[in-house]
Amino acid sequence: MRFEVNPNGRYMCPTCPSTYKQKGHLVRHIKYECGVEPRFQCHLCSKKFKHRSNLKSHYVMLHRDWSVSSLFSAAPDAKAKLDWRL
Ligand SMILES: [Zn+2]
Ligand SMILES: [Zn+2]
Repeated sequence: MRFEVNPNGRYMCPTCPSTYKQKGHLVRHIKYECGVEPRFQCHLCSKKFKHRSNLKSHYVMLHRDWSVSSLFSAAPDAKAKLDWRL
């Protein structure tokens, strides 16, 4: 399979805007990622991600204020358990 290379020397996915430095990464992308329904969802804004690492950096970038305490307030059961353990 031949792929187009953009001016930056990156291999371009034929079906989406993704580009990859290594051909193998593009092949993997097309096989496992491109057109695949994202599995990881942000519970704060419902944005979906294909990789857990993308979701993680999304939290850091967009929800910097988000902390463990807000998770506990959203899930009272978790807080109750924690209090019980302390
Ligand atoms: Zn793609
Ligand atoms: Zn979010």
